[in-house]
Amino acid sequence: MKVVKAGYIILTPKEQLINQSKMIEKAGRTCYKSEDMITDESHIKFVDKLLHTYHHESVIEHSSMTVVFVNDRGVSHEEVRHRLCAFSQESTRYINYTKENKGGECSFIDIKQHLKNPNVTLGIWMDAMQYAENAYKAMIDAGESPQIARSVLPNSLKTELVVTTNFREWRHIFKLRTSKAAHPQIREVMNPLLLELKSIVPVIFDDINPE
Ligand SMILES: Cc1cc2nc3c(=O)[nH]c(=O)nc-3n(C[C@H](O)[C@H](O)[C@H](O)COP(=O)(O)OP(=O)(O)OC[C@H]3O[C@@H](n4cnc5c(N)ncnc54)[C@H](O)[C@@H]3O)c2cc1C
Repeated sequence: MKVVKAGYIILTPKEQLINQSKMIEKAGRTCYKSEDMITDESHIKFVDKLLHTYHHESVIEHSSMTVVFVNDRGVSHEEVRHRLCAFSQESTRYINYTKENKGGECSFIDIKQHLKNPNVTLGIWMDAMQYAENAYKAMIDAGESPQIARSVLPNSLKTELVVTTNFREWRHIFKLRTSKAAHPQIREVMNPLLLELKSIVPVIFDDINPE
């Protein structure tokens, strides 16, 4: 078995993310027929006003960002509750983790940093993961399909989840999932993602801060 770190990759190219506020400006200025005021830099002030003065958030729906999250299945259950996103997720029905070309073993997301008493509980967790992997392999060896054998795999199983949605929904997701009330393992991926986006497209995300 393998223990891997949670993380994310922004699949949308950086340039594309930056250029989206220009598209938002074009869409927004259609409302006021003020396209003649567009300059190379005007999009920043315009989007800032839209968001923070007029709260005219529907206009920022003219955008899209795709991120692949690498986290555990438990966290992915929370991510897929956001209904305005498109999702594609690693399938435990079709992937046979015992096959060499699929890694030959199960991968679990590292939980150590979230444990209150790792000296005691890390060993308990490692044993449980090993037991689950052994059971999965034994079921596959006995002729069960991956979609049936997966029933013994735990929440900690690593998954990859591709999420696409617009900036308005990303803002909503960050408000909910970087708050102290959110699960520590979803904050582990959402907090650094939000911080990175604040540096790429500050005008969209600068008013949201991880707690
Ligand atoms: C701290 C925390 C604890 C949670 N605990 C639980 C729990 O114990 N059990 C549980 O089942 N879930 C739980 N959830 C999940 C939560 O109930 C939501 O399903 C999830 O956060 C998605 O949020 P949402 O519905 O606001 O947004 P999204 O699905 O992302 O939708 C975005 C927004 O679009 C609008 N919208 C979307 N669909 C509709 C619709 N059909 N009708 C009207 N407006 C709509 C709403 O304004 C919504 O806020 C928890 C979430 C958090 C953050």
